[in-house]
Amino acid sequence: MSKLEKFEVDCLVIGGGVSGIAIARELCTRYENVFLIERNNQIAQETSSRNSEVIHAGMYYEQDSLKSKLCLKGKELLYDYLKERKIEFNRCGKYILSSDDQESETLNDIYENGLACGVNDLVYDSSLNEKYPFLDFKEAIFSPSTGIFDSHSFIHSLGRDFQSSGGNIILGNETLGINESSEGFEVLVEDKKNRNQFVVISKVLINSAGLNAAPIANLINEQNIYKEEFVKGEYYIYQGKENLENLIYPTPTENSLGLHATIDLGKGIRFGPSAYVVDEIDYSLSLDQKLIFLEAVRSYWPGIKEEDLTPGYSGIRPKLKGINDFVIDSGTVSNNQFVNVLGYASPGLTSSLALAIEVSERITS
Ligand SMILES: Cc1cc2nc3c(=O)[nH]c(=O)nc-3n(C[C@H](O)[C@H](O)[C@H](O)COP(=O)(O)OP(=O)(O)OC[C@H]3O[C@@H](n4cnc5c(N)ncnc54)[C@H](O)[C@@H]3O)c2cc1C
Repeated sequence: MSKLEKFEVDCLVIGGGVSGIAIARELCTRYENVFLIERNNQIAQETSSRNSEVIHAGMYYEQDSLKSKLCLKGKELLYDYLKERKIEFNRCGKYILSSDDQESETLNDIYENGLACGVNDLVYDSSLNEKYPFLDFKEAIFSPSTGIFDSHSFIHSLGRDFQSSGGNIILGNETLGINESSEGFEVLVEDKKNRNQFVVISKVLINSAGLNAAPIANLINEQNIYKEEFVKGEYYIYQGKENLENLIYPTPTENSLGLHATIDLGKGIRFGPSAYVVDEIDYSLSLDQKLIFLEAVRSYWPGIKEEDLTPGYSGIRPKLKGINDFVIDSGTVSNNQFVNVLGYASPGLTSSLALAIEVSERITS
């Protein structure tokens, strides 16, 4: 790296999705010279724009886990931020349904876990049959504090906050390598337009590179070798005649919260996301999975017909193999501080403002 042009900054954030932007915005309150590098030509083009846009209430996650802690705190911060900035949201609430006795036990576990985690507003609701006679279920719980929001406006608003506090977003530039020296982390960056390479030196380095966070973490902290696992989820758009005012979720599966029915802010309905492991980042829809998808939806909405569903979009969950929680790996190498944000799948949108505070607190100087 020695012949390349070098730039020194106080703090460098890799990745311009919701996590990187929220963290960079938070770090601007402590550092003068904060830079964020994003390889795409716009922010939030990957997982942060390929999800359900749900504000999660926090009843699913293990008590005291990072997901539980950050989701509960993040939910409150997020609702407050959306209100203050007049960004559209709908605190529409959601139902979780069981379809047999075994699922009813799982439902009860979710209810109890929610209470233990501090989600105090969950209620068993037997009136759902009247409201939505086309649904088939055994029992239902209602979460009034679940909602949906305009996540694009939210992320862009955070980006504007960051820039108006003096932060710099460098688009179309990719991190290729990381060395460590007494001056700081030396991060090799390539401008994707002209292939021009340069080095950014920073004493504080944040890796919030989403699906690419594990290989970048392995460059920073060679002690821990992280192995990522991509779990893809596809969505289908509902074209039938029924309407929903709330979100409808089945009981969760191992890799996902189940193929739920969500409404968007315009009251359109979509189903998803499915969950299956993939080796590469490819957002095309595997249409051969449509029948499996349809079967899963029919477990609670039996009248759905194949022609009611048209292909939507997909997203990929950035998980770590064998780990269900978020991982915030922070540390110091020769006086240089790093934070890796790993396994930052759902409820990552909901948790983002709380994540930013948590990451900032991990940096000691
Ligand atoms: C199917 C699905 C549904 C979901 N639904 C919800 C939901 O309803 N509610 C909720 O709260 N959460 C949800 N999530 C989770 C949420 O979307 C993610 O947690 C969040 O978007 C992750 O944001 P991120 O910034 O960490 O990653 P990303 O948005 O992927 O951002 C990472 C960025 O890093 C950049 N990058 C990578 N490598 C480099 C490099 N070498 N150099 C420079 N830049 C680089 C990428 O281009 C990318 O822009 C869902 C996720 C999925 C997959």
